[in-house]
Amino acid sequence: TDIGKARRTNEDAFLAEPPWFAVADGMGGHAAGDVASRLAIEAVRSFVAGREDPAETVIVEAIRKANGMIWRRSQENRWLDGMGTTLTLMKVESGRCVIGHVGDSRGYLVRDGAVRRLTTDHSVVEELVRTGTLSEREALEHPQRNLLTRALGADPDVQVDLVTEPLMAGDRLLLCTDGLTAVVLDHELGEILTEEAEPEQAAARLVQIANARGGPDNITVVVLELPQP
Ligand code: MG
Repeated sequence: TDIGKARRTNEDAFLAEPPWFAVADGMGGHAAGDVASRLAIEAVRSFVAGREDPAETVIVEAIRKANGMIWRRSQENRWLDGMGTTLTLMKVESGRCVIGHVGDSRGYLVRDGAVRRLTTDHSVVEELVRTGTLSEREALEHPQRNLLTRALGADPDVQVDLVTEPLMAGDRLLLCTDGLTAVVLDHELGEILTEEAEPEQAAARLVQIANARGGPDNITVVVLELPQP
């Protein structure tokens, strides 16, 4: 995770403790975004520990639990009023991954040089891209590109989207906040994730390229590779 070149604080947070991975991008004044994203990560970390239920169940419950904690905290403390966060939470299991998400932090799969976005942003521009009103490039410039239609902390309950994806040895997975995807296109992510020999190097290069393009926001990436058997 990197603060970028324009922000004074880093309000992103992440989790990388196999088989659990997550990114969260907080928002709200008075450093409240920082509190929200950290609360989200801590809530899911403690919730998922030792759970044996199916991943889908654990993920949805963990995200809803995190949402409730953030919402209650923002009600109790006026400095934190209005805080919120995205949360994209993934469990990698044998032969598949399960992702639950709220907001615009994304999951990608790279296989045999091809990149595929696994998540659908809960944002105003995503709606416009999906209906063909905007191209991916136009979406990056759109004045409402930061407006989310769903976030943790906004309401006492939240709807979680679930994605299940079969995995193969050698697959690479990326979770990232919009500090990356605001300035780097999908095919460019795919090229970097394909070219770099090590996941660590790929992660470092993704952050580097976002900063080289102005680093307008905090940048957080989690890159993992499924080992060959
Ligand atoms: Mg952001």
